[in-house]
Amino acid sequence: MAKVISIANQKGGVGKTTTAVNVAASMAATKRRVLLIDLDPQGNATMGSGVDKYDVENTCYELLIEDVPAKEVIIKNTAGKYDLIAGNSDVTAAEIKLMEVFARELRLRRALESVQHDYDYIFIDCPPSLNQLTVNAMAASDSVLVPMQCEYYALEGLTALMDTIHKLASVVNPNLKIEGVLRTMYDPRNRLANDVSEQLKRHFGDQVYRTVIPRNVRLAEAPSFGTPAMYYDKSSTGAKAYLALAGEILRRRVT
Ligand code: ADP
Ligand code: MG
Repeated sequence: MAKVISIANQKGGVGKTTTAVNVAASMAATKRRVLLIDLDPQGNATMGSGVDKYDVENTCYELLIEDVPAKEVIIKNTAGKYDLIAGNSDVTAAEIKLMEVFARELRLRRALESVQHDYDYIFIDCPPSLNQLTVNAMAASDSVLVPMQCEYYALEGLTALMDTIHKLASVVNPNLKIEGVLRTMYDPRNRLANDVSEQLKRHFGDQVYRTVIPRNVRLAEAPSFGTPAMYYDKSSTGAKAYLALAGEILRRRVT
């Protein structure tokens, strides 16, 4: 059975997609069978996996709304050596149409049942909002991985997000766990970042990953080559950090 992990934070630009693509590739590099689901209409995880979002036959829209079986919407073996369910602007329509369908919170969960045994890990790249798509992701997941930047107000935002996750979970998925909190785009020379990081550890303890993702230009460049960082510059600090994160996820037991 696959472990399903949503990568979520209602804030945009905190490194959700970068984490989704690079952790999926790193996990695949450890010989795990990985599926990445791009649930964001921006389709950045799709492009970052080397798949042209303007030229895909099926996306999360067909999966969620048209009842096309998961096996038919999955794009096999992308540039990151994982499988992908693509996202693009069609997924915006799915968000709207979900309002009209029966058991709308559980569409993704149901749709993934038929491929649960084909993968070890399924990662879901969530949109930067708490809409019906994100609710579907939470309902389909075992746990949530929260990427965050260590900046002023970050802690406040995070506490609010955790609250929302707990409330959502109590309604759509009582078994939902926090997989971990990931510090992204970290600059150790920045004093504020260090202060926030310390507060974060005090507040969230072991839920904070030891692995820290540094600010690294290779991570920002790789998507324009349609590839995860490890196949663009495998010696970059960014690529190495995501490999370390995959190791930490594999070792960690979430309770
Ligand atoms: P989100 O999905 O949360 O909106 P992204 O992963 O798209 O965030 O990241 C936002 C921007 O920051 C992108 O341009 C991305 O390339 C860049 N970025 C993300 N993580 C890093 C990092 N560790 N170092 C440098 N740039 C990064
Ligand atoms: Mg994103």
